[in-house]
Amino acid sequence: LLEVQNLHKRFGGLVAAKDISFSIKAGEIVGLIGPNGSGKSTVMKCIMGIERPNGGSVKLSGVEVAGWPPHRIARQGVGLVFQHSHPLHRQTILEHIILALLPDNLLMLRTDPDVRRRAEEIAARVGLANVMHRLPRTLPFADLRRLELAKAIARNPKVVLVDEPFAGLTSAEVADFSRLIASFRADGHAVLLVDHNVKGVAALVDRVIAMYLGEHVAEGTAEEVMQNETVRRVYLGGK
Ligand code: ATP
Ligand code: MG
Repeated sequence: LLEVQNLHKRFGGLVAAKDISFSIKAGEIVGLIGPNGSGKSTVMKCIMGIERPNGGSVKLSGVEVAGWPPHRIARQGVGLVFQHSHPLHRQTILEHIILALLPDNLLMLRTDPDVRRRAEEIAARVGLANVMHRLPRTLPFADLRRLELAKAIARNPKVVLVDEPFAGLTSAEVADFSRLIASFRADGHAVLLVDHNVKGVAALVDRVIAMYLGEHVAEGTAEEVMQNETVRRVYLGGK
């Protein structure tokens, strides 16, 4: 479904992603782990077209999309849950979801009852039904994360990229978000899940890819990756 091959991204002299290759099948949750600055968000942004890769290939359902603008990649079936959210101040939660549902050229449909109903369903799906008429700044952090999830799945993407969904959440919220992400898989979405630590995602993922300083250093089940020498050194301080 998603095939990344020899993806390369430089920022000036810094190589943020070096020759990264992996693939994800439908119905799979793959973890992409690594410490701060290892290039995880860069890989996601390159897949989504927010950053333009300097080399390599990104294929979605066999179609080469590297170098396409984000709105075309979204239309090809990719949704991204950003690590940081920047909601609009004057739009309610429901309005945010409606805007995420509609491509730019169909914004005149934003008052359409069917579109509204679909947006309400999505709000309910991510646990925002009770707050959907409120403004983002009146809501707790976890609800803003839910809004990011809602926006990413609004157009029913084949691949959902989720950047650090658990950062800053309580353990109850983490459990709730894990269930939500597992439900994406049950619906046949493929999920690429970024986190700092393999342990945080081990229960949720089918497979893990570990990055370190821009390089792909290990891949396998969570148990296999935890045995990897570089992963052990980075995470366990050489123990
Ligand atoms: P974190 O866990 O902190 O989110 P990450 O694994 O997502 O880290 P990236 O955000 O992909 O890491 O960054 C990888 C490297 O690329 C870092 O050294 C970062 O400073 C650099 N970098 C990322 N984006 C840019 C940019 N737009 N311009 C210059 N350097 C960048
Ligand atoms: Mg990041």
